[in-house]
Amino acid sequence: MLSPGGLNLEVRMDRSFPKDGSIADYQQLMRDIYDLPGDRNFSMSDILAQQQRFTMRALKGIRKGDMQQLRLNLLDAFSWSMTVVNRLHFNIEDVIWCRFPYQCSYCAACPCTCQTQKPDRRPKLLIDESKRPATLKDFQKMFSDIYPTNGRTLADAGIHWAEETGEMSEAIHAYIQEHRPDQLQSIADEVADFVSCIFGVANSAGIDVADGSAELFYKNCLACHNIPCTCSIEHINKFSFEKPAEIPVP
Ligand SMILES: [Zn+2]
Ligand SMILES: [Zn+2]
Repeated sequence: MLSPGGLNLEVRMDRSFPKDGSIADYQQLMRDIYDLPGDRNFSMSDILAQQQRFTMRALKGIRKGDMQQLRLNLLDAFSWSMTVVNRLHFNIEDVIWCRFPYQCSYCAACPCTCQTQKPDRRPKLLIDESKRPATLKDFQKMFSDIYPTNGRTLADAGIHWAEETGEMSEAIHAYIQEHRPDQLQSIADEVADFVSCIFGVANSAGIDVADGSAELFYKNCLACHNIPCTCSIEHINKFSFEKPAEIPVP
């Protein structure tokens, strides 16, 4: 479809995330829904601000013991992190797998032994491709095998997630200022750590990220249900799962 201004607005088939989809499927779906409006309307700092907004709302859910608030905001923060990753043209599955190839990236063990062994330097990780999880659900299981939930409280997992949110933002802003190629590896590492914390919190709280994402993205954008998303900036900036009635329908 051509708009009067000659801007090509391609109408795409409705899409959903299947519960047994891969992380690559999830990344591609987020690309198809959100890259066009994101590229036109958002700077990287704008995207990070949204990712942080939903992460903090999820953490508020932990503090208040509101598991539904935690769940929905965690899923949305995960979605915004794909917009970050897509802007950087990273392959998120490779980024996660290179950092966590079915072992802890600090002690190289599964389950992690960092709490008892205290490694003083990072070992070189040997990657066994035959262990690479096929689906998003399998990746969540991998993180529960590497970092069993009995080793931490949900609040501990949440604090770690907040820490990694800050480190990811710091790494990206350092790159925005200096544009050094080696800084891209730091960003990739921090993105992998951020995603590992999303799965860590999800595992501690009993949230299935694949099932939840399939519910949230059952038809295109979770709010306007279009692909590409046509949510207004006002709607995006005011969007919250806690008070949906106060937000104008896009
Ligand atoms: Zn470890
Ligand atoms: Zn939308």
